[in-house]
Amino acid sequence: MPLEPLPIGATPALDDSAAAPPAALAGLSKEDLEDRLDRAGDRLRRLQPALYAESRQALLIVLQARDAGGKDGVVRHVIGKFNPMGVAITSFKVPTPLEQAHDFLWRVHAAMPPKGMVGVFNRSHYEDVLVVRVHHLVPERVWRPRYDQINGFERFLTGNGVTILKFLLHVSREEQRERLLARLDDPEKNWKFNANDLKERERWDDYTRAYADALARTNTEWARWYVVPADRKRARDVLVAEAVADALERMHPAFPSAPPEAAALRAMLQKQ
Ligand code: ATP
Repeated sequence: MPLEPLPIGATPALDDSAAAPPAALAGLSKEDLEDRLDRAGDRLRRLQPALYAESRQALLIVLQARDAGGKDGVVRHVIGKFNPMGVAITSFKVPTPLEQAHDFLWRVHAAMPPKGMVGVFNRSHYEDVLVVRVHHLVPERVWRPRYDQINGFERFLTGNGVTILKFLLHVSREEQRERLLARLDDPEKNWKFNANDLKERERWDDYTRAYADALARTNTEWARWYVVPADRKRARDVLVAEAVADALERMHPAFPSAPPEAAALRAMLQKQ
């Protein structure tokens, strides 16, 4: 069963049960999940070269999550299946003074994948209706109109050859606690620990509301949201990889045909 996009008009229930893998995956062994991921990876590897060679359209994958939600894992295990030459990954951090001096979509538009490429946003313009809302970084009269502004922007992009997939990697509060603890306990993960993550965790319910509203209001026919149950890492990767492979198939990327002078060129090369 593929991961279904959030139904249009629906507000997602971002509770603990939505973080558990679907029944069809919950019963699978680690090996079975790895097989599924390998098969999805084969599809990604097969489709991407045609997208690149054709250079007529682009795919944008937006990754949003709470801290320790698994964005880095998806980049490694799913996006890592692609040929890196055809992928552009952008991480959106706190805006620089220059970025702040512009409208909130300025830096986002500049990071759009050109035709032929897969673009990945690790965080995105959605931070401007999430962290910005939760921390009151701008007044409501500024952030609220952004839902419509985002919808218009994404519609403009899709009208210009960009297919947009938006994933919320949804973890439960308990799973986030475990992952943050692992960052403290595991020397190879210490570098990822950020004391600020604990402050953000205190605002769990505020973020839940902000995410639910953002998804409900920006889940459009042209740029759908997927809520990915992300408590089990391998199941999460399978769901994202299969959804991306399905989307790429729907894009029907095709290798350009040989140039009309191919026969003449072949004859010349054979003589040389
Ligand atoms: P990851 O993104 O992988 O979790 P991180 O949280 O360690 O990594 P940081 O260097 O902390 O990465 O940068 C991300 C921070 O930037 C987040 O706290 C995020 O909320 C913040 N941020 C991103 N976009 C904006 C924005 N438009 N306004 C304010 N803060 C933003």
